[in-house]
Amino acid sequence: MSLTARDVLQKLADDAGVSYRDVAKRINQAMATGNGLKQAIENIAKESALDSSKYSLDSQAIVRAIDKILREDYTQTLMISAVLAQMVESTEKDRFPVPAFFAFLEILADVPDTRHDIKSETSHEIEDLTTRMIELTTTLVSIVCEWSAGGMRGVAADCPVELRGMARSVFRKTRMFQSGLWTCISCGKIVEVRETHALLCPECDKDISSERTPNSTAPSRERDRLGYGRTEKDDSPDGSIQ
Ligand SMILES: [Zn+2]
Repeated sequence: MSLTARDVLQKLADDAGVSYRDVAKRINQAMATGNGLKQAIENIAKESALDSSKYSLDSQAIVRAIDKILREDYTQTLMISAVLAQMVESTEKDRFPVPAFFAFLEILADVPDTRHDIKSETSHEIEDLTTRMIELTTTLVSIVCEWSAGGMRGVAADCPVELRGMARSVFRKTRMFQSGLWTCISCGKIVEVRETHALLCPECDKDISSERTPNSTAPSRERDRLGYGRTEKDDSPDGSIQ
């Protein structure tokens, strides 16, 4: 079964005999007018006389896939986390959407913090897994949260009961972010977005900066510090897919 919007859209494009680009464009248009991702996919399938149940997305299977990657290898998880944190702060077009990052953090929080290294990962592998993580998390928030033309509106009516807590948390943090507030990724304190540094509140940033020594390679606190850079206040999250 497909786990990402990209996979489903590709399958839909193949079956309907049109290009991926066409399908993606129509999905984005439908979502811009307030359709949810599931509804948009269903509509296109119906118009093309295809069985829409073949293009369903299972949010719990997506969470399991994310969780599996995050439990695989400690260093690998740190590296993926660092890249995503950097991308969420980016002002470029490749910016990682804030709601998807919140969903990522919710799932990461359930992963035990034990050092468990089973392999030495290549940068190529990290790049592939990060891309996979972006696709999984953006798809997840597209279906567990309810969207309208104006952005996220709440938890989706058909969000499974097991994921409602996560979806509610993503919604709450996204709304706070839109009004200029950020939840520190280390201690959970709510601060103004413009006060944050590398996604941390000023206190955590100070603590972690003072703990680091120039030649230290030990990643003892690296799990807390997920990113580098600065979060801009005027950024707005969006849940669109490419
Ligand atoms: Zn903090």
